[in-house]
Amino acid sequence: VVDLGMPNRTVLTTCAYCGVGCSFKAELRGDQLVRMVPHKDGGANEGHSCVKGRFAFGYADHPDRQLSPMIRDSIDDEWRVVDWDTALGEVARRFSAIRNELGQSAIGGITSSRTTNEEVYAVQKMVRGAFGNNNVDTCARVCHSPTGYGLNQTFGTSAGTQTFASVEHSDVLLVIGANPTDAHPVFASRMKRRLRAGAKLIVADPRRIDLVRSPHIEAAHHLQLQPGTNVALVNAMAHVVVTEGLMDQEFLDSRCEGVEEYVEFIASPEHSPEILEEVIGVAAEDVRAAARLFATGGNGAIYYGLGVTEHSQGSTMVMGMANLAMLTGNIGREGVGVNPLRGQNNVQGSCDMGSFPHELPGYRHIGTESVRDIYEQLWGTTLDPHPGLRIPNMFDAAVRGTFRGLFVQGEDIAQSDPNTRHVEAALTALDCLVVQDLFLNETARFAHVFLPGTSFLEKDGTFTNAERRINRVRPTTAPRTGKHEWQVVSEIAGLMGFDMGWDNSADIMDEIAATTPTFAGVSHRYLDEVGSVQWPCNDNAPLGTPIMHVDGFARGKGKLMTTSYVPTLERSTRRYPLILTTGRILSQYNVGAQTRRTANSSWHAEDLLEIHPHDAEDRGISDGEFVEISSRVGSTRLRARLSDRMPVGVVYTTFHHPVSGANVVTTENSDWATNCPEYKVTAVQVALRVEA
Ligand code: SF4
Repeated sequence: VVDLGMPNRTVLTTCAYCGVGCSFKAELRGDQLVRMVPHKDGGANEGHSCVKGRFAFGYADHPDRQLSPMIRDSIDDEWRVVDWDTALGEVARRFSAIRNELGQSAIGGITSSRTTNEEVYAVQKMVRGAFGNNNVDTCARVCHSPTGYGLNQTFGTSAGTQTFASVEHSDVLLVIGANPTDAHPVFASRMKRRLRAGAKLIVADPRRIDLVRSPHIEAAHHLQLQPGTNVALVNAMAHVVVTEGLMDQEFLDSRCEGVEEYVEFIASPEHSPEILEEVIGVAAEDVRAAARLFATGGNGAIYYGLGVTEHSQGSTMVMGMANLAMLTGNIGREGVGVNPLRGQNNVQGSCDMGSFPHELPGYRHIGTESVRDIYEQLWGTTLDPHPGLRIPNMFDAAVRGTFRGLFVQGEDIAQSDPNTRHVEAALTALDCLVVQDLFLNETARFAHVFLPGTSFLEKDGTFTNAERRINRVRPTTAPRTGKHEWQVVSEIAGLMGFDMGWDNSADIMDEIAATTPTFAGVSHRYLDEVGSVQWPCNDNAPLGTPIMHVDGFARGKGKLMTTSYVPTLERSTRRYPLILTTGRILSQYNVGAQTRRTANSSWHAEDLLEIHPHDAEDRGISDGEFVEISSRVGSTRLRARLSDRMPVGVVYTTFHHPVSGANVVTTENSDWATNCPEYKVTAVQVALRVEA
């Protein structure tokens, strides 16, 4: 332990882990970070923090960090450290060569939900302006893209409806496919406070998460559904609301459309809890009781996570929850709403910033001429009106040989995307893979150019949290790499003949504000003055918008959508009789690139496979033994933990360690609307591993 002495300066900034977006005072001695102190005036956290934000910052100066650019001719060669000019010149030369030989659609970029809004905006501008196409996608593709689609279809905007503080006014919390205690701890504390004060809790999750039963909290209902049956469950709940006359008819008549068609659809007996009981795996009377409680228990709020989105019907489920909220009039005031809990710090922002292949910033379709005009005039270029490739389409095109150059900012796609073997085949096929990251991650094994990235302690910009709150991220020190990430992207674009036109990060936000109506009132200056603000922030809402859809929906009327349940193709078979599902643990974060390089790693040194004692006994597996998990796409090895948190027939693991590589077994199945992978349902076999 190094005694750094007392801090002598403070920088106010934002946690770079989960989507709660806690505000911290970084206390430093010189350039050395001594401690992170949660900020009592932080809009999202009000002085609270968790073990990640408070303690897991040591990765920022971990010796594994790569601080210099590197290049190599082929992925079999050794890396050569080079200066920035050489590296960026090499990137521009290689991308330009591919563009000239195969056409502009052969290159693209992937943005990260960990980088700032300004950095994401820079990448999408480089792809659209310098590459000349819309082949830009965000890693939110593999987590919350169904949220974007589903909430846009029903409410008219791709974002959660509430401020976190709204939960203080909730009477019933419906938590679906989320484990806030582990994944969003500071907001979970707020939920627990409300539950201890008497609010009722309904949890819908195949796993008995901590929230189901914790000190002074007992869920009124734990609907322990079979993985992959979310839509059947939400339809059954809506069926009860409609057929038992529990609808908020006044709200439906005045605020919604599509009501008649939806009511006719959902009232059909095929959606009744009794008919769906076997499919869902939950007793019909429990589903009925939960639906009645949600509809009649006062202010009902829905909170959900990746257990909703990462399914073949992720988008349908998001619409199903929006239907349930509208049916019961639980939209447009404190204590209600439909609220995605975002896993990463800037999932909301990376989606807002136009890094989808079909949308410019502010969720405006690339095919809309009046929107393209705004950017064409400002950027002095002509934009391709056709949507580009999504991440899985990029992989498929790379394997086919029609997509040859890829820029990846802050995302370890070789580890985090499903069906690892297919991803590796795609990355191997590229002529030029450029990775911008803190560490030589798994994806960098396939790269030709490595560009060192900056940690959150060096960044200057903004993150947008799960409640649409735009928080400032301020640098505690100059970039240890010598360049900001937006600068690197800007210089590549410049070398390819497209001038991005910025001197600093504040200029980028000014451009975002000038071109994106929901951000019109946002600037670094304003944020420095007020602390943080929730978008939309513009002339109509100069102080921001804590609660959305108060008097009318963003699309005018809320639209009820018919949501037919379609079973996933991923079913248990004789060969793969168990269903694997995945989640997070408190001390770790995503693929662990950061937290594994901090003291937090000792709290969860490996991913474990939770298996029910009955399933373990059938296979002769004891607690702590290594097992082989195999699916139709691959196999991996994990240590077994016997647990009755999962029902018989369902196994569970986390995905924080590369050795176990849960994504070796997850399949190419994905959401029908957005291609978000179906991480949460994989048919597997588990067997005791016999070492050779
Ligand atoms: Fe960071 Fe999330 Fe923990 Fe807050 S709750 S300190 S944002 S990881």
